[in-house]
Amino acid sequence: MRRAFIAGNWKLNKTISESVEFVNAVKASVAGATGVDIGIGAQFAALKSLADACKGTNIKIGAQDCYWEESGAFTGEVAPAMLIDAGCSFVIIGHSERRQFFGETNETVNRKIKAALAAGLEVIMCCGEMLEERERGVTNKVVKDHIVNGLAGLTVEQMKKVTVAYEPVWAIGTGKTATPAQAQEVHAFIRGLLKEIFGEATAQSVRIQYGGSVKPDNVKELMAQPDVDGGLVGGASLKPDSFEKLVNFGK
Ligand code: PEP
Repeated sequence: MRRAFIAGNWKLNKTISESVEFVNAVKASVAGATGVDIGIGAQFAALKSLADACKGTNIKIGAQDCYWEESGAFTGEVAPAMLIDAGCSFVIIGHSERRQFFGETNETVNRKIKAALAAGLEVIMCCGEMLEERERGVTNKVVKDHIVNGLAGLTVEQMKKVTVAYEPVWAIGTGKTATPAQAQEVHAFIRGLLKEIFGEATAQSVRIQYGGSVKPDNVKELMAQPDVDGGLVGGASLKPDSFEKLVNFGK
């Protein structure tokens, strides 16, 4: 059985004090959410304070990107070990916004994943097609390209620390959620790819989150799909009451 994993992706939102205030508001009500891993991916400057505020709670803190070098002349970058030092346990890599606006490629995604895992972080690797690609009927081709190249060279052991997030780009921040059937279809396809690359046991144990306008009123239906193991949630993770409902989807 795969343990559910609901993670908020706060993107470029919330100051340090707003982040800490959020955690203080939700920590009691999410404490009872058993059987689910809970995470928040926050902006770099808030990570240390947020991680400190989450000590003793069941909320894990992660970053939304990292670099693959450990140190050196790479102005503006943050190394995986620095994220651990700040209190992070995971990092989101390859989000479509980074691919669209910041030149992220499958190759850089792959380098970042390897560096993050080597430093001891868990990874959420995002994949997913643009609207135009879905309309051209190349969803599986695009997703395969992201999975095969993004995870190239990883071992079965390393895959124990990797979660895949399927995020159709047309559903991110648009209010247009993939139907549970659409999500399940691609999730099953991804699990099939994982089986081809890493074997049956890994395919069965890797968690695949769905992301794209997940909300309290659709999370249950999505989570009921056999290959949907969690959610990566943007907008609906920003408000305490909505976050609490998302992580308590099973109740
Ligand atoms: C995301 O940021 O990964 C995301 C899925 O955003 P939203 O839930 O707002 O669509």
